[in-house]
Amino acid sequence: MAKLYFNYATMNAGKTTMLLQASYNYRERGMTTMLFVAGHYRKGDTGLISSRIGLEAEAEMFRDGDDLYARVAEHHEHTTVHCIFVDEAQFLEEEQVWQLARIADRLNIPVMCYGLRTDFQGKLFSGSRALLAIADDLREVRTICRCGRKATMVVRLGPDGKVAKQGEQVAIGKDVYVSLCRQHWEEEMGRAAPDDFIGFAAIEAETCPQPCHAKTIV
Ligand SMILES: [Zn+2]
Repeated sequence: MAKLYFNYATMNAGKTTMLLQASYNYRERGMTTMLFVAGHYRKGDTGLISSRIGLEAEAEMFRDGDDLYARVAEHHEHTTVHCIFVDEAQFLEEEQVWQLARIADRLNIPVMCYGLRTDFQGKLFSGSRALLAIADDLREVRTICRCGRKATMVVRLGPDGKVAKQGEQVAIGKDVYVSLCRQHWEEEMGRAAPDDFIGFAAIEAETCPQPCHAKTIV
């Protein structure tokens, strides 16, 4: 039976590159894939999935209230679809995640979702919460913090270069996202108690080959 997959990570881990490569592998073998990307922050009907290393592909857009099962089932009736790919899956509604599960269960088409687990405040996105709850297969796409440890969190830097501590879940504009380990994320968010900074310094000296973070330790 086909499965519903959730490949999750923080920002800049290469999720989109993985998605485009996997879709390409299907198409290279003459198979048909359907690609979806969030339309919440895009205009028009056709979206573009593009990765940081220059790969791109056209995709259908999903927005709140869309019935993804109906769209795939209709397409599948006249052209056999071999795999569904969903980028920015964190923006799916809970009901849409169930629709994707039905695509796997009833149409027997595998569904590969790629997205962020948490936002800059460390809270689960709606789509990610539902996917973590019901996907058959959870895969973490790993990237590293500046200290070399696994990055699981993200901070958002505003146009002034400062870390945003509150605000909308998604900011459109010139904001930059930086992936960090949980410990450095807490430090950047100003959540570490003063006593903890002694601990940070000791751990950093041990694990970080370069004093990349020296200015905030002192
Ligand atoms: Zn770190």
